[in-house]
Amino acid sequence: MQTPSFETLDPRFGRYALGNVHLERLYTGCRWSEGPTYVPAGRYVVWSDIPNNRVMRWDETDGSVSVFMQPAFHSNGHTLDRQGRLISCEHGGRCVSRVEHDGRRTVLADRFEGRRLNSPNDVVVKSDGSIWFTDPTYGIDSDYEGDAAESEIGASQVYRIDPDKLAVTCVIDDMVRPNGLAFSPDEQWLYVADTGASHVPNGPRHLRRYTLDASGRSVRDGELWATATVGLFDGFRCDVDGNVWAGAGDGVHCIAPDGTLIGKILVPEVVANVCWGGPKRNRLFICGTTSLYAIYLRTTGASWI
Ligand code: MG
Repeated sequence: MQTPSFETLDPRFGRYALGNVHLERLYTGCRWSEGPTYVPAGRYVVWSDIPNNRVMRWDETDGSVSVFMQPAFHSNGHTLDRQGRLISCEHGGRCVSRVEHDGRRTVLADRFEGRRLNSPNDVVVKSDGSIWFTDPTYGIDSDYEGDAAESEIGASQVYRIDPDKLAVTCVIDDMVRPNGLAFSPDEQWLYVADTGASHVPNGPRHLRRYTLDASGRSVRDGELWATATVGLFDGFRCDVDGNVWAGAGDGVHCIAPDGTLIGKILVPEVVANVCWGGPKRNRLFICGTTSLYAIYLRTTGASWI
């Protein structure tokens, strides 16, 4: 099946692409849309407009869009923790923070071994409550998406925040610019995008798949799993079947668990990130450069976060 919104590259994609369903643009007017998260209890999506230093909110009940927070610490990636609290990656704060139920902001991590983080980019929460995030330099490379500064750590790594002690440990140190990340539905694997091609000629533009150790607190054997065929893989989420839906240069690429690109959602702007939402979790919200898009699919997200 092929409609203007879907491109099928493998028969397996056919079951996910609904007939007579098209990409909807819900809002436009951002400079760089990123970090969407659907809040099921409130039926809204928050997402970042990083250069404009604001977080936006799209209300599912009436389709209205408002500024959720500005200034907003040049926030990038968002997710919810297991208690439904909003977790933010702050370029400006160079930290991962949490909004408490009473609205206060708590900084969860801003340093590793005494040195300031670069600019946390994307974040996911594991079933045990631990918070995993990437820390490339995009938010300190210039004043456009944060505040220009030198890296104190001198590397772009992936970290885990312990849910009890809030201790920060490094879980991945062999990437160039780690970016989006997500666990497979069974948490057997951790997928991490490397957008190192932005800084290194012919650098990485791929997803790597790491195996979780028995403890569930560390990973090993990061294998090259899928390479972006258009643009770079930035943020992504998994569906219940283990497919990865990843932002890329021409839309959202759907990659089967065996690493095969099976189809695309075609989007007229470069896609940075996606999240699942709607009461049935069968709608994919898509941050595409200046806009927020959405499309219904015949699958559901592996989780809300
Ligand atoms: Mg990102």
